[in-house]
Amino acid sequence: MSQDVLARKYRPSKFAEVVGQNHVLQSIKTILEKNISHQAYIFSGTRGVGKTTLARLIAKSLHCQERNDSFEACGKCDACKSMHNNSHIEFIEVDAASNTQVDKIRELLESSMYKPSSSKYKIYLIDEVHMLSKGSFNALLKTLEEPPEHIVFLMATTEIEKVPKTILSRCLQFHLRTVSSDELIKLLEKVLKAEKIKFDTAAIEQISIAANGSVRDALTLADQCIAFCDGKLSGDQINDLLGTIDESNIFELLENVFMGNGEAAYNSLTRLFEDQVDYENILQAILRLLHKIILQKELSDSDNSQIATLANNIQKDVGQLFYEITLDGLSKFSIHPNPRQAVEFAVMRMLTFSSLNKNGEIETEKKNFDGLAIKETTVDKNPKYSFNDEKKQPQKEKINHLITRDEWNKTYFDLELSGIIQQMFASFELKSFCKNSIVFIKDANVEAPTKNIQGKFIEVIQKKFAISPELFFEDGQPDFSPQEWKNENLRIQQNKNLSDFKKTKIISEYLDAFSATVDINSISKNK
Ligand SMILES: [Zn+2]
Repeated sequence: MSQDVLARKYRPSKFAEVVGQNHVLQSIKTILEKNISHQAYIFSGTRGVGKTTLARLIAKSLHCQERNDSFEACGKCDACKSMHNNSHIEFIEVDAASNTQVDKIRELLESSMYKPSSSKYKIYLIDEVHMLSKGSFNALLKTLEEPPEHIVFLMATTEIEKVPKTILSRCLQFHLRTVSSDELIKLLEKVLKAEKIKFDTAAIEQISIAANGSVRDALTLADQCIAFCDGKLSGDQINDLLGTIDESNIFELLENVFMGNGEAAYNSLTRLFEDQVDYENILQAILRLLHKIILQKELSDSDNSQIATLANNIQKDVGQLFYEITLDGLSKFSIHPNPRQAVEFAVMRMLTFSSLNKNGEIETEKKNFDGLAIKETTVDKNPKYSFNDEKKQPQKEKINHLITRDEWNKTYFDLELSGIIQQMFASFELKSFCKNSIVFIKDANVEAPTKNIQGKFIEVIQKKFAISPELFFEDGQPDFSPQEWKNENLRIQQNKNLSDFKKTKIISEYLDAFSATVDINSISKNK
């Protein structure tokens, strides 16, 4: 499989397929729909965000013979077909990086003066336009000063500041932004589903982070990962391939930091170090996760149950403080003599302040964290757990946990749930039960309950516990579900019945005489 199969296959063939550039699309739409005539466009932005793709789509729409007043090209006429095949004679693509000589550009500009034979426009796409020589820019400028009506120049550049102002002032400028990882995730989901390639959420998250805002990089990385992962993209394998961080380790680290559990936090950190990832990446990953947690605290809109749980276990002010600490560590990272210590130090600072997470909100005046400027009185000088603790400290019960899994299992069948709902939720293991969220572990092959069923379940919970939580479902092995608990108790009871049964004299004689065994399922309580 070649490296850019997906990027080429899924290159947008119409504006509607362009990802993450709505602000630019809106302007282009207006220009095309109203047939406003512009003769020079310049697209700037980092690599792989869709500059030449957009330029080609504009060329396609301008050349289309059936477009009338719409925005999109028809995709069916001869002009559209030849644009699609890269064979339209009035669409000329030039790579400025390899055509810096002034003669070539001059030749091209001279030929542009002749009217197109078969269509309304002669369209030129000059990629990496900042690479043109000074002489070439001057020649181009002359044409742009008095362009014949049939000429359209589309230019693309990653370094807009290197393009002369005189050129820029004659162009319609569009700056394409880097694409958010949410948008990249959506795109990857769509593409991988269309390609019938299996993937887990961690896998596409890792790819979207590594792509760094570039659609092309996201798809190229996906290509590499498909080749590497043998058909199914899993987060673990992609961590290995891309050298990215296994986010579950960051979750674990922050969970321990939030609980002030120094030793466990240090163990999490050691595991991260063992993966031999870049130390700076660790701080960035911590920052990313803290950002998500703080947003969840404000908006409560995350559909990730782990983030919801962590957000429940941190006070808003403390979360913001941890963010500042990590950001501080990151900003000083390049001057730190020992990168590993820089990460450790940031985590230790968070641990120092984690006691605040239990002792109430930080006073407002101390919100603006600037390192040591925080008054000493707010700092617990003897944090309960630190990296130096030799003995393992008991894990603190998470804040806000209303009931434990065992309590849940014992009382589950007493809840007034109707048959099918009771049966369904009996197969889920309780992971956490807090005021605002209940997290269940379910078998990956089992669908999560519909919103309707969840609503009915929540009604019962509301009545019983006087809370109104949101439900979350994680895939895993629900080995300790109420149903399993019930089965286990049944087994224990049956075994007890069995041994009682075997002990009776007549039965033991009978079993010996016939070398018989007892069918455990046939034993039942006396009615
Ligand atoms: Zn057409």
